[in-house]
Amino acid sequence: MKAVCWMGTSDVQTLTVEDPAILNPHDAILKITRTAICGSDLHLYDGFIPTMESGDILGHEFMGIVEDVGREVTNLQRGDRVVVPFTIACGDCIFCTKKIWSACDNTNPNAHLMEAAYGYSGSGLFGYSHMMGGYAGGQAQYVRVPFANVGPLKIESDLPDEKVLFLSDRVHGRRKRSDSRR
Ligand SMILES: [Zn+2]
Ligand SMILES: [Zn+2]
Repeated sequence: MKAVCWMGTSDVQTLTVEDPAILNPHDAILKITRTAICGSDLHLYDGFIPTMESGDILGHEFMGIVEDVGREVTNLQRGDRVVVPFTIACGDCIFCTKKIWSACDNTNPNAHLMEAAYGYSGSGLFGYSHMMGGYAGGQAQYVRVPFANVGPLKIESDLPDEKVLFLSDRVHGRRKRSDSRR
């Protein structure tokens, strides 16, 4: 697939990279239909965020069509149209059960790096450095969405992508399906 890759400070390139695959049973693969460049991507572009690595795929504002789901994904199926919030949340930790998704305790495997830099860690984020989890972003043709039962919001209206895309860049808010599960 084609993806927008951070190659170093002030060096971003569109490259052909390996397609994402289901790694965990709760993953989904999304075919991106719309993505955006955020003002905070400029912090990456300008080299202000540590732990970026050459080849990292950028993008935390994206939406698309579900292409594939892992065997434990029950809220989504192939063909669903979804927008995905940039904070990756497990849905089960103490923070997630209080709907403090951005503080999820389970989705940043590099929390120790965040703690060293910021004093505390939040959830993993798409496309936003290795200290925030090292997850590939959505400025690409496809993206892997971990914990796909929790984050993605199904868009069942005929609103155009441009009208719903920016729900991706919100820290917390309404998550209908997971709310109704508890
Ligand atoms: Zn943003
Ligand atoms: Zn959590």
